Amino acid sequence: MTKTNENSPFIKNNDGIQKEARTDEWLQTLIEDISIRFFNRRFKNQAYYNARLRTTGGRYHLNSHNIDINPKVENELGFEALIGVIKHELCHYHLHLEGRGYQHKDLDFKRLLKEVGGSRYVEAIGRPNTIKKYYLYQCSACKHQYKRRRKLNTSRFVCGKCHHGLKLIKMVELD
Ligand SMILES: [Zn+2]
Ligand SMILES: [Zn+2]
Repeated sequence: MTKTNENSPFIKNNDGIQKEARTDEWLQTLIEDISIRFFNRRFKNQAYYNARLRTTGGRYHLNSHNIDINPKVENELGFEALIGVIKHELCHYHLHLEGRGYQHKDLDFKRLLKEVGGSRYVEAIGRPNTIKKYYLYQCSACKHQYKRRRKLNTSRFVCGKCHHGLKLIKMVELD
């Protein structure tokens, strides 16, 4: 049922659902692409996933010029959110290296962010107490259940325990 190749590498998310691998190399290529496409400038430093970032989506390091990305961004908010965070961090990156206003309060930053369509706020993730609804999925084979904040593309995700497909059981709203 699932299109996922059993031989492809997986990473395990917090909730045990396995997913196509998101390596630092994959992230590096993505950031280099976005930098060329939207900024017309090269990203010449390193990109890393950093799971220790708690409530922030990404971080630009002023000293090393490297960019850290919180893996929770894509896991919890989806691919589009990841692109938005990368654009945000690239605004810091390019403006800083060019000696322009690279901080949130600077006009240069605000303008460039708007131009490339980056995320304004990347601090609003990873707060479980703000969850208002979730989707309940169940493995078609072992019946293990998973709660997810976002709707899953069930052709891309498989059960972390037995690799069988997942089925949406219900959407639960909390008050
Ligand atoms: Zn920022
Ligand atoms: Zn299972």
